Amino acid sequence: MRLGIFGGSFDPVHYGHLLLAECAREQLALDQVWLVPAAVSPFKIGRQPAPAKDRLEMLELGLAGSEHLRASPLELDRGGISYTVDTLAEIARQQPAAKLFLLMGADALRDLPAWREPARICELATPAVVRRGGAADPDFGGLAAIVSSQRLAEIHSSQVQMPLIELSSTDLRTRAAAGHSLRYRTPRAVEKYIETHRLYQAARD
Ligand code: ATP
Repeated sequence: MRLGIFGGSFDPVHYGHLLLAECAREQLALDQVWLVPAAVSPFKIGRQPAPAKDRLEMLELGLAGSEHLRASPLELDRGGISYTVDTLAEIARQQPAAKLFLLMGADALRDLPAWREPARICELATPAVVRRGGAADPDFGGLAAIVSSQRLAEIHSSQVQMPLIELSSTDLRTRAAAGHSLRYRTPRAVEKYIETHRLYQAARD
């Protein structure tokens, strides 16, 4: 099985996330993509996200009907700061026959050498760098010191292209707080969930 792992806060999920997962699924011929909300992202420790239950439920609503994309509660169940290396090690243990791909944007690739145990991350999963339309070429330079040249070539050939979609969860939260429309920025069921549960009523950032 070829399995894509896509981590984020998903606070809330939006169409940029969903299209990224789908482009990777198609272009890398993945059997499944797991979207894994972080309990606490190591990069967003100062900011209080919406409750884990809400973020997971919105993700499940957003993915409803998808055969290949699914939400994984792994990091939420583990709790604490969500380190990618721990998540990949756990998935590799659970799915020993799976070939893992770690989906990430070019910005995350640049920061990867500073993550916890980057070399082990690259052994456990092949980083699949997602390039957004119009963006500059990703810089693989930082990885050269961490992985073999053979692995680097494999990472190079696992790039994914997606159209530029200028959406972010921050925008959605800001819009919700201001009472602006979320229509067509996130699936309708997620929009309704945000309304019903009165999420993001006060600006959090
Ligand atoms: P926030 O605005 O709260 O920082 P976000 O929209 O960037 O959130 P995250 O859940 O942090 O969403 O994102 C997880 C991953 O999804 C990130 O690595 C980011 O690169 C990617 N991503 C987010 N929005 C888009 C988008 N519009 N197009 C492509 N990738 C995206």
